[in-house]
Amino acid sequence: GELPRAEEVQQLVTEAYERYRATADGTVADYIPVLAEASPDLFGISVVGARGRSFEIGDVDTRFSVQSVSKPFVFALVCEAVGYESARHHLGVNSTGFPFDSLMAVELNDHRTMNPLVNAGAIATTSLVPGADAAQKFERISAGLSRFAGRDLSVNEEVYASEAASNLRNQGIAHLLKSYGRLYFDPDEATDVYTRQCSLEVTVHDLAVMAATLSNGGVNPQTHERVIATGVCRRVLAVMATAGLYELSGDWLYEIGMPGKSGVSGGIVTVSPGKGGLATFSPPLDVAGNSVRGQLVTKYLSDRLGLNLFASE
Ligand code: GLU
Repeated sequence: GELPRAEEVQQLVTEAYERYRATADGTVADYIPVLAEASPDLFGISVVGARGRSFEIGDVDTRFSVQSVSKPFVFALVCEAVGYESARHHLGVNSTGFPFDSLMAVELNDHRTMNPLVNAGAIATTSLVPGADAAQKFERISAGLSRFAGRDLSVNEEVYASEAASNLRNQGIAHLLKSYGRLYFDPDEATDVYTRQCSLEVTVHDLAVMAATLSNGGVNPQTHERVIATGVCRRVLAVMATAGLYELSGDWLYEIGMPGKSGVSGGIVTVSPGKGGLATFSPPLDVAGNSVRGQLVTKYLSDRLGLNLFASE
């Protein structure tokens, strides 16, 4: 199957935007100081079909830091580099049920593995990216995410500096993982590369192209470049379905029925395998760290576009 006709998709995207524009629930993240400056009114939706058509509305050119939405894409690059079985062995693929920055997730598990989409597993993922030093690892990440997006992404230095000055908790997680043999690089340097990765700037359109690449077996539908193997793509989507929306991943799958990933700057990506990628940007978050409007819009579009993977009709 494919997405419905172009006019219909654009109409539904517009309807979703109008419907949830006035929603005022949620709070803009402030634990990374500079994120607190984002306007709660920013709101954009982008859908990119698996054959590259785009449908969008709202603040589609606004740049924001990718934050945790980087995590599945860096996991994909690691699977591509070391193999998805080795990646599972090193990182784990089970949900933790704990908040994104939890240390309990590390402590309450015999293998000391989590999954690549919570901070502990994500910092471990970053530590597995090939490269002789931190600069090479970061270069590999930024080049890889740029291939997913189809344009050169760069770091927002202000966001990077703000998080680097306040990320003691992530540094602690990295050291804890290292003590268990579950971090595969120097803990301070791995945390630094991870913080840079989270500070890469994207638009909601970039996120939709990245998601569309995952919907298209790993080939970017706009540049036609193969970014990752089809077999890797499938595993990345499985992890997103399991753990993409923090500790509310079960609620998300129950409502929306597709793999997704949220980030604290207000982005959410959702993948409809074979059909396309959907991205939303709206900074106010729920208690778990998921964009409130993003969840409402994605639910609406999942229903109206018939994207729920568990629906038999
Ligand atoms: N850079 C943020 C952190 O590590 C990302 C959090 C998120 O988006 O979930 O805290």
